[in-house]
Formats: sequence, structure tokens, C-alpha cells
Amino acid sequence: MELVLHCVALPLRHVFTIAHGSTAVHRAVIVELRQDGVSGFGEAGESVYYGATVEGMLESLQRVRGLVESARCDDPAQLWTIFQPALAHDAFALCALDCAAHDLWGKLRGQPVWKLWGLSLERLPCSDYTIGIDTIERMVMKLREFPGWPVYKVKLGTPDDLAIVRELRRHTDAIFRVDANCAWEPAQTIDNAAALAQLGVELIEQPLPPELDEAMRDVTARSALPIVADESCRFESDVDRCLGLFDGVNVKLVKCGGLTPARRMLARARKLGLRTMVGCMTESSVGISAAAQLLPMVDYADLDGALLLAQDIATGVRLQYGRFHFPEQNGCGIVRASRSW
Ligand code: MG
Repeated sequence: MELVLHCVALPLRHVFTIAHGSTAVHRAVIVELRQDGVSGFGEAGESVYYGATVEGMLESLQRVRGLVESARCDDPAQLWTIFQPALAHDAFALCALDCAAHDLWGKLRGQPVWKLWGLSLERLPCSDYTIGIDTIERMVMKLREFPGWPVYKVKLGTPDDLAIVRELRRHTDAIFRVDANCAWEPAQTIDNAAALAQLGVELIEQPLPPELDEAMRDVTARSALPIVADESCRFESDVDRCLGLFDGVNVKLVKCGGLTPARRMLARARKLGLRTMVGCMTESSVGISAAAQLLPMVDYADLDGALLLAQDIATGVRLQYGRFHFPEQNGCGIVRASRSW
């Protein structure tokens, strides 16, 4: 395989705020793997919370160039075990590489990745559309900008969390899920869950910081709503640890290091009886189309990352009013949208 690294800067539709901070332009690394005249693509974006920078990822990927370029794309899961030891410190870089290998693998085999895995697209969950933290008026505006979705995910972690959800509820009958991104406290979570259950909220994502995971055992037991781990469920080993602490896990490709571990994590979570969710960061259709291959394995989908961009850089799996549309293309279905990268 030939390794080509692209650095992209994607303007966002809105300045995006969650409890961890704000961002207006999103920088990401796109890994391109070429073999036999075919290109596969994978993405990992910057994340302040997880300490991922474009410069750091490029450096990590340069370090495995020799390993990558001496390998052939026959089995992405096998390649992952070869690359993982060298990229154990950089799950984001490993993710971009692993997703590119999967996209290339499917394209070379002439099949979509989900099909090569033996999955079916017959019953897929809808995705939510995410409303970032802002003034209540602007959050309502964001909701109205994307009307008609079956589920909205509301980012919380402000002094006005319940007022936000009450106001949004006046504008739609859709299902809500909320994500506090570690900003709540244990007693507050139990109180908020009771109030939010009355407002048509179906689940709460990551109310407490991972340092307080042990408190989650009691909080989850007393919560009126199911609680899903995100920041507390990062790597493969975290899935078993989440049993008893949370009702479910949100698996994201960049957190764990790509499709190879993500697929194993979702299978393990289901086996343990945990609810499963596939999520994303702010990502172009390169990253979203990879994550979408996992949809047959999940109860909940949060894959609206590309809609948060002012302009996409690729086509692939597309979201419309919460429903997924898979393209004719093989692999993860990714086609570069412009020659600018
Ligand atoms: Mg989250």
C-alpha cells in the first residue's frame, strides 16, 4: 500500500459548543491508502478533550509509514494488530489508518464493508441531530434549522439545562436525548433524570466525569432514564468495566482506534446486555461513512457530524431527516468531493 496524508480545515456551520469548549473551524487528518490503482480513505479530527492534534497525528502516522507501505490490504483486522503497537499512544491516528484500510479492502473486494462483515441493512436505527450549547434562543434556532428529525441530541452542562429542554420541547414532539459531557454531579443527575423523563428524553449520555465512574453504580440504579457511557468508554477494555455502572456504551471510532476495535466492542457490549450506540465527533462524510458500517450492531445512532460542517469534503453514507442512505460504492462508500485535498 502507498500512504498519502492529507490535512484538511473544515469551516463549521455554527461555532460548536459542548461542556468541554468551543470551536469554529475543524482540522482533521485524512489518511489515503492506495493499492492496485484504488484509494481508501479514513479520517480523524482534532480533539482538545482527547489531546489529538493534526501535527501529532501526522507525526504518529509518519512513524508507521514503513510498516504500512510494506503491507498489502488483505485483512484490515490483521493489519490493525500490526499497526496498533506502534500507535498505542495515538488512537486517533490508528483510527484514520484502520478506516482507510477498511474502505480500501471493500473497494478492492467489490463489496461494502457491512456486507463483508455479514451484516444486513434491514433494520437500522435513525440518527439524532445534535444541538450544541448556546443561548436558549439560538438553540431553538438550531432546532428549527433542521426540522423533522425523529430524534435530537441536546448538549447540556449549563446552569439552565432544564429550561433549555423545556423550551425546545415547545417546538417539537421528537424524541430527545441529552449529553452532559461530564458536567453534572451525582445528585443533580438523579434529579435531572426524573425531570427529563417527563420531557420526552429517552437517555442521558455521560453525566459525570470518568473519575467518578464508581459513583455511577448508584446513580444509574436510581436514574429514571438509561445512562450511556461516552467519555468513560474509550477503549476495548472499558466495555466490561462499564457493566453495572452504565446501561449502555457509546462507541466512537477515534476514541478506540478504528473499525476493528469498535466492531469487537459493540459485539461484546451486546453480549453483556448493554445498550449500544455508535457516535461521532465533528467529522466529514469520510469518518461518518466508516462509522455507519456499524449501524446494524447498534440500538442508537449519533452520526450527524458531517451536517455540522458548512461544506463536506466527500460523499458517502448520507443522512436525511435522521434516516441513512447508503451509496452504491463499495468499501465504506467514500468518494472524494473535490481535488483540493
Ligand atoms: Mg457524548
